[in-house]
Amino acid sequence: MSRVYNFSAGPAALPTEVLAQAQAEMLDWNNTGVSVMEMSHRGKDYMSIAAKAEANLRQLMMIPDNYKVLFVQGGASSQFAMVPINLLNGKKSADYLLTGQWSKKAVAEVKRYCHVNVVADTTNSHFTTVPAAASLEFDPDAAYVHYTPNETIVGVEFDYIPETGDVPLVADMSSTILSRAIDVSKFGVIYAGAQKNIGPAGLTIVIVREDLIGNADANMPVMFDYKTFVDYDSMYNTPPTYSWYFAGLVFAWGLKQGGMSAIEATNKRKAEKLYKAIDDSAFYSNPVDVHCRSWMNVPFILADANLDTAFIEQAAAKGLTSLKGHRSVGGMRASIYNAMPEVGVDALIAFMKDFEKTQA
Ligand SMILES: *Cc1c(COP(=O)(O)O)cnc(C)c1O
Repeated sequence: MSRVYNFSAGPAALPTEVLAQAQAEMLDWNNTGVSVMEMSHRGKDYMSIAAKAEANLRQLMMIPDNYKVLFVQGGASSQFAMVPINLLNGKKSADYLLTGQWSKKAVAEVKRYCHVNVVADTTNSHFTTVPAAASLEFDPDAAYVHYTPNETIVGVEFDYIPETGDVPLVADMSSTILSRAIDVSKFGVIYAGAQKNIGPAGLTIVIVREDLIGNADANMPVMFDYKTFVDYDSMYNTPPTYSWYFAGLVFAWGLKQGGMSAIEATNKRKAEKLYKAIDDSAFYSNPVDVHCRSWMNVPFILADANLDTAFIEQAAAKGLTSLKGHRSVGGMRASIYNAMPEVGVDALIAFMKDFEKTQA
């Protein structure tokens, strides 16, 4: 058995310790004689697993009591619709910041439900920057403001939280949740697909302020109403039980790392050393404005794109995998979520230096 340093953007690497724990518990969870996958979600064993996962997440993110945590399916992509369905509440429009491919998809989806006011659009920069905070003019009558704090494909991350006054702020945190400490009270809704920093695919976490629950359009499916998830503890239907269990193990692992401040410090160090290696070389480059470079997704291009294949092959031979960039960007992308240990980043940097030397 050998594990590589897996730089996949998602589904992404999971902490090896957590995988090992899940493996140890696979056939017989806590002397029940069954796998978590084989349990009724309504039994006391699974209920304890579910409650513990939520408690751990609340502790890790310091989620205030007036927020609910929902365990949902359908991915972040379903939230592109669930957000307007639940938050419009009779209003006619919503404000969106368009700063990358994911927020672009969110904008496309919300057009089915209301008028969209695109407050900022960085398409012309090829999504290599974020709008200046002072340039944002929000509509005080908008139902909410939606943005994507970290755009996973280009690797651009807001270095501030937009100030929206009384208008609820909604964030697609799929690729940045749990990467740094955040003040949850600044948000109306935070949502994230699990497969980047939380656990296996199939689970979406939605953290929603209580006053924003219970206003969904009555014509919409019951499974798209946040209130359904609140009223039934996210078990109106069968939830993705294994993903939820596994996410709980990841949250406990996060607490064991020292919580968000310790995780944040490690992530900052990992990102800074990788960007430094890129910036210090004439062979590698990253086009994103320095102040808004992502800590989680680090794209870089080689001076000669003809060397991409050799880079990827030689990296893989050294146990550094899934570095190929997104098809829309090309080059490389190293996703360095929480489960990527700092030694993995060090190994990538060492390989990059060696590869560059062999081209000289
Ligand atoms: C991965 C990702 C998505 C899509 O998530 P799904 O769970 O596949 O729907 C949406 N937004 C961002 C920022 C992402 O990184």
